[in-house]
Amino acid sequence: MRQHSQHSDFPGNMPSRRSFLRYAAVAAAAPILTEASFARAAQKAIAKPTAAAAARDVWVRPPLDAVIINANENPLGPCEAARTAIAKVVPVGGRYDFYGETEMLTRTFASQHNLSEEFISVYAGSSEPLHFTVLAFTSPERSLVIADPSYEAPMMAAMYSGAKIHKVPLTSDYAHDVKAMVAADPNAGVIYICNPNNPTGTMTSKKDIAWALENKPKGSILLVDEAYIHFSDAPDVLDLVAAGKDLVVLRTFSKIYGMAGLRCGFALARPDLLKKLSPYGENPMPVTGSGAANASLLDANLIATRKKFMTETRGETIAWLKQNNYKVIGDSQSNCFMIDTRRNGRSVMMAMRAKNVYIGRTWPIWPNAVRITVGTPEEMAKFRTAFKQVMDAPPAATTAAELRMHRDGVRYPRLS
Ligand code: PLP
Repeated sequence: MRQHSQHSDFPGNMPSRRSFLRYAAVAAAAPILTEASFARAAQKAIAKPTAAAAARDVWVRPPLDAVIINANENPLGPCEAARTAIAKVVPVGGRYDFYGETEMLTRTFASQHNLSEEFISVYAGSSEPLHFTVLAFTSPERSLVIADPSYEAPMMAAMYSGAKIHKVPLTSDYAHDVKAMVAADPNAGVIYICNPNNPTGTMTSKKDIAWALENKPKGSILLVDEAYIHFSDAPDVLDLVAAGKDLVVLRTFSKIYGMAGLRCGFALARPDLLKKLSPYGENPMPVTGSGAANASLLDANLIATRKKFMTETRGETIAWLKQNNYKVIGDSQSNCFMIDTRRNGRSVMMAMRAKNVYIGRTWPIWPNAVRITVGTPEEMAKFRTAFKQVMDAPPAATTAAELRMHRDGVRYPRLS
């Protein structure tokens, strides 16, 4: 849903019929999958396989009183200023963009980050530019290189571009192994670095990212996903974008800004790189998303306040887990972290759900580890109670539903 048309092939510079058909076929074929898609697929796959539900392939929504810590959402929702901004634009919602909300948003971000406006494309969330970048820069000849475990969405897009996928395990301290990633394939098209990483919340140093940028295979780009960067103390890499390097940085308003259901995100890159994403989809931004995002950026206290709130709750939760001899993986600087449950992670998800606590999924490389999103202190208190009860009970035998999950991966290809 790219907003700025100055880099576009359309309509001033129409693509050839052949390239248009190629773009159209690819774009139509690739679904845009978000964290919500993966979280739902994981829950659906461990659903009791009742015939009726299975036949209709339905997603059963969690009860409203459930603790939902399975999709790295922000329970605080949009800030007060964002809510006011939304109320202000609703009456002019009959126009595409009466006040120029998206332009204002671009201007605000550009001035706050010392970035030229043509390096910014606004989308309804970062999932679209993530998919479009992989589609644009990978192919059967140019592969995707990704850490393992990491966020699955780039692999989903690579399946549609026909690219080979090279999964490179994280280092022993759970950073991206940039040396191994760069060496993975001389014909790489995209090297994806998620920083902090989803699902571990662990960091990769800026020095390592800069090294990867300097040493990556010719013709490839780095896709640096900073969805969770505001939760960490690490520097971002926007100066490398401003310097015109071969990277695309993704930002989203779904995490610290609490706008997952409102949708807004950025692709940040050199104009010639952004231009390559355009053929995969353009659509005006919802003015509620742009207006709320702009107001959020202008709220000077938002990041610090929310980061403190989440960090304290995460610290309290992890301290409790460690005191109780549960194994937390790595040192998360994000709103999620992983626990090695030392038993089948999916059976733990199921047992937690039976207690009305929806925790995050497992990754194939670590079948015993589950991802936990940091919720409110009250939600995490409920999580602790349920988790202790589940772990105090003997591990359940692997159920038919778990086996089914390994086999079919629900509607999505088998990634977890
Ligand atoms: N990138 C990462 C690493 C994510 O975890 C997510 C969602 O959780 C996204 C991108 C996409 O988020 P959205 O499309 O809501 O901006």
